[in-house]
Amino acid sequence: MRRILIADQLIDGFNQTPIKNGVVIIQDEAIEAITTYDQIGNDPEGEIIKVPGGTIMPGFIEMHAHMHCSAEPEAYDQVISESNEELLMRSVEAVRETLISGVTTVRDLGSKNEIAFAVKKAVEERKINGPRLLVTGTPITTTAGHCNFFGSEADTADQVIAALRHQVKLGADYIKIMSTGGVFTPRSNVFAAQYTTDVLRLAVEDADRLGVRIAAHCHGTEGVINCAEAGIHNLIHSTWLSADPNEIWDYRPEIADTIAEKGLWVDPTIAIANIRIDKGIPFTDDELLSSAGLSDLEGRFAILKDMWDRGVKFVTGLDTGMSYVGFGDFAYTPQTMVEGMGISEMEAIICSTLSSAQCLGIDKETGTLEKNKSADILIVDGDPLADIRKLHDIDTIISQGQLIKRAGKVLI
Ligand SMILES: [Zn+2]
Repeated sequence: MRRILIADQLIDGFNQTPIKNGVVIIQDEAIEAITTYDQIGNDPEGEIIKVPGGTIMPGFIEMHAHMHCSAEPEAYDQVISESNEELLMRSVEAVRETLISGVTTVRDLGSKNEIAFAVKKAVEERKINGPRLLVTGTPITTTAGHCNFFGSEADTADQVIAALRHQVKLGADYIKIMSTGGVFTPRSNVFAAQYTTDVLRLAVEDADRLGVRIAAHCHGTEGVINCAEAGIHNLIHSTWLSADPNEIWDYRPEIADTIAEKGLWVDPTIAIANIRIDKGIPFTDDELLSSAGLSDLEGRFAILKDMWDRGVKFVTGLDTGMSYVGFGDFAYTPQTMVEGMGISEMEAIICSTLSSAQCLGIDKETGTLEKNKSADILIVDGDPLADIRKLHDIDTIISQGQLIKRAGKVLI
């Protein structure tokens, strides 16, 4: 089937300026051409989808989902107590909700047992609706470490390598490892490293050999440094929390330079707190105590902006499924990059599309609007370059050629 998408402007995902009166022509699942309204003639063959005042752009790439987590305040209690069957049902609903918000590619960054693999297969076979899925399987963590209840504990280098190979054998597209403890896991230590640089480096070497990349969760500065020195492909959170209880941050600009020089990607999960602020959900005293960074968001944004200015490449993960972080909330990430961190609207959109596709190694397939790439396309109702919050208003969604939403109406 041939479709012609017409709007006031088109953001292709790599040029810094939009194309005025841009048009995308789609044939089945692929982009046939990018052109302009005055080039298509009076009666082009195909279904016309025209959105006056709209902006055509690539589909969003959500880099950090936990598809079986509930996003409810009780997310932790639910994920440790619910059966695989219950978690699977949550996952099916979560991937659908993600897709209808305009996310056409999602990376699941850690789930329990083998749930994500089954969901990925069902989406690929079009048994259920969801975005293109890349999955990590269960994250690799130390005994009693962050997310140990997901099922993959490994303490020594040999055990880490074995766990990594096991996830590849199951079908993992990416590997997730926990470089420090996390707030979600009681008794894990957020400030301290779980693995030495040497263990992480061996994991990177083995991942390179097997043709997969590694994403590592890191909050405390010791863990961030270990990831940077080991060459972990994608640093998650990169929070730079100080191990000294008298200070919040322990930011090391020279390590940020290393991250930039090595070309490692950072997923700062920048919007987690701002979703709450925007929705008017206050933080509890417990949350403020357990998450040091919440009391100084300005300080956090200043560190991230300094990393950006040093040339660090950012990708857009929301950490969906964590409490209050909903599967339809993607647009908060580019919004917070603009409003909090202070980068431009176009820069935040490119992080949300091309940069994230590059980090996943799928930029030949998706992430930009170019001839022969997958038809993963949004039409935003308005101009997100003038107001980044317009990314919450998606008029039309096409995912791998399938019409998901049109004129604001969900069709699946
Ligand atoms: Zn996460």
